[in-house]
Amino acid sequence: MLREAELRVTRPRVAVLSAVHDHPHADTETIIGAVRGALPKVSHQAVYDVLRALTSVGLLRRIQPMGSVARYEARVGDNHHHIVCRSCETIYDVDCAVGTPPCLTASDAHGFSIDEAEVIYWGLCPDCAPDSDPDKPEPERNSGD
Ligand SMILES: [Zn+2]
Ligand SMILES: [Zn+2]
Repeated sequence: MLREAELRVTRPRVAVLSAVHDHPHADTETIIGAVRGALPKVSHQAVYDVLRALTSVGLLRRIQPMGSVARYEARVGDNHHHIVCRSCETIYDVDCAVGTPPCLTASDAHGFSIDEAEVIYWGLCPDCAPDSDPDKPEPERNSGD
């Protein structure tokens, strides 16, 4: 992958790519921890620099849901979207229902040639949503008055 992107193959680059591959949507701290499993002496700055370089050549995708730190993933180029839990910030990939960007038609494009619609689905994951388990009996509601 690095060679195709015409980047020199260095150990930090390989370690960062495989860390992001193993930990999709990880934040920088998590990636640094994983990289240090392979390269114990790598500096924060080196990992930041590699993340920036790999993102700029398109080998990594950087996502930053509102209120979250930047996160990285190795799944690039397929216009997939994300679903984010408002409570615990769990993130999952969601395949685009349309396929190719932009997957939403602007009601007024203002003359722009639009190449992407950024979609993030927000909600509560099954662990955080109250009463989300269909097998669980409804809690008895006491009207109380
Ligand atoms: Zn959650
Ligand atoms: Zn993703």
